Amino acid sequence: MKPGITTLIPLIIAFLFSPPGLADRGPAITDYPVDQVTDEVYVIHGPLGMPNPENQGFMNNPAFVITSDGIVVIDPGSSVQTGEMLLRVMAKVSKKPVIAIFNTHIHGDHWLGNQAIRAAYPEVPIYGHPNMIELIEAGEGRNWVDLLERLTEGKTAGTGVTGPNKAVDNGDTFRYGGMTFRVHHYGKAHTTSDIMIEIPERSVTFLGDNVLNDRIPRINDGEIQGNIETCSRILETGSSTYVPGHGPTGDAEVPKVFQRYLEILYTTVKKYYDEGLSDFEMKDQVAEALGAYAGWSGFDEQLGRHISLAYLQVEAADF
Ligand SMILES: [Zn+2]
Repeated sequence: MKPGITTLIPLIIAFLFSPPGLADRGPAITDYPVDQVTDEVYVIHGPLGMPNPENQGFMNNPAFVITSDGIVVIDPGSSVQTGEMLLRVMAKVSKKPVIAIFNTHIHGDHWLGNQAIRAAYPEVPIYGHPNMIELIEAGEGRNWVDLLERLTEGKTAGTGVTGPNKAVDNGDTFRYGGMTFRVHHYGKAHTTSDIMIEIPERSVTFLGDNVLNDRIPRINDGEIQGNIETCSRILETGSSTYVPGHGPTGDAEVPKVFQRYLEILYTTVKKYYDEGLSDFEMKDQVAEALGAYAGWSGFDEQLGRHISLAYLQVEAADF
């Protein structure tokens, strides 16, 4: 039976009142407050939870630095919507154009917002570690787009993959508007693709997820000993201000406290490994040793996995 005109009317009305493409795009993110962490350096400290429909996938610390030539952005967030929110927040602080973007690592909650900045500034260079560029070419960017869209139930829809187009590595420096942006990379830490950005003139360092504050990281792609070593190396900058990938900005205590988490995790797991316990048998002891961190977001969810990962790394180091 052919559909009659009366059955088609609701469809026609629905079509007329929904502009094409609207359903393919998640809603805007309400503007978050921005914190000035030192002269000309601003951070939007994102929510601490995992991506969900309420936070719309926004969870990192997008940052921007206002130089005399224009704005340099670090990690514009998890979606095109987060990048657009960042553009609006930046416009309240400065009318200068965005002249460069740095992406600290492959995890999509930090860089999928590139898309919005690039749409507004088509020529802007995006810097990232060569391993990040390689992982995106291998499909990791697409995986992150899909993961965030699933976890947020479509709130990040419309986000695509806009990765770095300029490879940078340890020791590279850039000059923008009278400020130096120095890249640090010390091998596999949080991931294989981490860069940290130091601005000596402002004594500030952006740590990516090599350091978190008040929140337990996903360390599945990392190396605990490498991450501990990276914390030591970045503390050598002697910066006054450290901006973690998630959680509040602070002084040298921020990397030190996080490094201590990793050290306690590793040494406690090693202690019970040496005593012949398996990973699930040592959970209570490790939880107790890490008691100072029990209030951090994600502690209960991640503890078992962190013990398992530490166990595998202790075991590998044993051979
Ligand atoms: Zn990460």
